[in-house]
Amino acid sequence: MDNCLFCKIARGDIPSRKAYEDELVLAFHDINPARPMHLLVIPKRHITSLQTVSQDDEAVLGRMLSVANQLAEENGSPDGFRVIINNGRVGGQEVPHLHAHVVGGPDPVGPMLKRN
Ligand code: AMP
Ligand code: ZN
Repeated sequence: MDNCLFCKIARGDIPSRKAYEDELVLAFHDINPARPMHLLVIPKRHITSLQTVSQDDEAVLGRMLSVANQLAEENGSPDGFRVIINNGRVGGQEVPHLHAHVVGGPDPVGPMLKRN
């Protein structure tokens, strides 16, 4: 995916504040943080969203979640965190490369969603 923003970050073509990396995933600080800790965990290989995953993606999907607690402990959110994955138009996804927001900090992040 030549023109995908997060593929470019995964390749190092666009700089990011890296928090974690292994063979499957990369985690970096969100450029516009919504909470004191706001990290993005992405698959290194392009996946558009949870709308396009298959069983072949289960290892990388599992890794995206299993690194979250370590990331939180290392980045100022030792007492819990929230993981958010926006998918597609209805989910409010802006960057079409799958990413888990891992948000937290010293204080509770607040209500999950505003009720309509
Ligand atoms: P979403 O709305 O779920 O697609 O979230 C996209 C997120 O990517 C937003 O929180 C943006 O602040 C973040 N973002 C966009 N560009 C960059 C970038 N170059 N580096 C880090 N985070 C970014
Ligand atoms: Zn991509």
